Amino acid sequence: MLDPAIRGALAERLRFYRDLGLTDFYRRPVDPALVAELARSSDVREAVSRMPEERNIASVPVVPAAAPEPAQANFFGEEEPVIHPHKGFTASPPQAANVIPPADRPAALLQIVEEIGDCTRCALHTGRHKIVFGDGSPTARLLFVGEGPGADEDAQGLPFVGRAGQLLNNMIAAMGLEREETYICNVVKCRPPGNRTPEPVEANTCLPFLFKQIDVVRPQVIVALGATAATYLLGQRQPLAGLRGRIHAVRGTSLIVTYHPAYLLRDPRQKKEAWADLQIAMKELGLKAPKRG
Ligand code: URA
Repeated sequence: MLDPAIRGALAERLRFYRDLGLTDFYRRPVDPALVAELARSSDVREAVSRMPEERNIASVPVVPAAAPEPAQANFFGEEEPVIHPHKGFTASPPQAANVIPPADRPAALLQIVEEIGDCTRCALHTGRHKIVFGDGSPTARLLFVGEGPGADEDAQGLPFVGRAGQLLNNMIAAMGLEREETYICNVVKCRPPGNRTPEPVEANTCLPFLFKQIDVVRPQVIVALGATAATYLLGQRQPLAGLRGRIHAVRGTSLIVTYHPAYLLRDPRQKKEAWADLQIAMKELGLKAPKRG
């Protein structure tokens, strides 16, 4: 028999995840007797039945725990923690019938801002000055996803307004677009201390809001800027090199992966490679690069 306090805590946790928009889970193998007990628990059944997609907890497939992977160095040469695949972690992208009409998208984005509120869901809130929600056109055809705010963004409450932002602006201009025509946001909305890579728990806590933004804007193309954006959008870690140069699918949208502008500032030789990635995005969007004057 499951301890009532544990059962209550589990139900509470499920409600919390549902509020965040997390309705699918994977987990390590667990004791089948415990699964059966959970399925019988009225608290858990009630919490599950109120989820958007009704599912029987006992029928959720058990995904075997992945073998431990070695930590990998990111493009700054820093060790990054291993991020396990979170297949089924995200809710499905909206069906055509649920697409928000363009005129309603600004209000729909504001609703997400309100839902985030004065967020204290993860530890990043303790060091932030401003939540950096996103910037740009709510009907953008092209959406960029970065990693997380830096010092300038934290001070202004806007994404990509520092040096990396200037380079991103130049990249957008090279594509023949205005920054205001695109939508720009990040995996995490609060600045990680010292601009470190967000911890998986921080990124996973914030991720539902990014997916909600994507579902409202419904861009034709998403460009993931760097390994962190690619990792969390795709739900699995792969070296950036293996992800570049092809089109992925995320929430019903084409995803292209390229280098983070901060990396390009450190290693400008890679700008040529980044331009090749952006050309894939341009082709998807039917854009031609403007002639240089
Ligand atoms: N780097 C990011 O990943 N995002 C920003 O908003 C700024 C710098």
